[in-house]
Amino acid sequence: MALMINDDCTACDACVEPCPNQAITAGSPIYVIDPAKCTECVGAHDEPQCIDVCPADCIVPDPMHEESPEQLKAKYESLHG
Ligand code: SF4
Repeated sequence: MALMINDDCTACDACVEPCPNQAITAGSPIYVIDPAKCTECVGAHDEPQCIDVCPADCIVPDPMHEESPEQLKAKYESLHG
């Protein structure tokens, strides 16, 4: 499933650059993950890169966007052609 950023976000900007899919943008007041672009880093890395760098531990699974590993891989491939 895609990940989401919860209200504990401090808008520190640490997660934007590590995302292989450019899925994270600055929202108002907190940052936002585009579920159409987040693959949980499937296709690019072994672990979600944004969770690794987030100092606020505010990036969590998004229950509204359940997806299998196969669906996440297909999403990655469609994003990167
Ligand atoms: Fe981007 Fe990976 Fe975080 Fe999803 S899990 S938002 S693809 S860094």
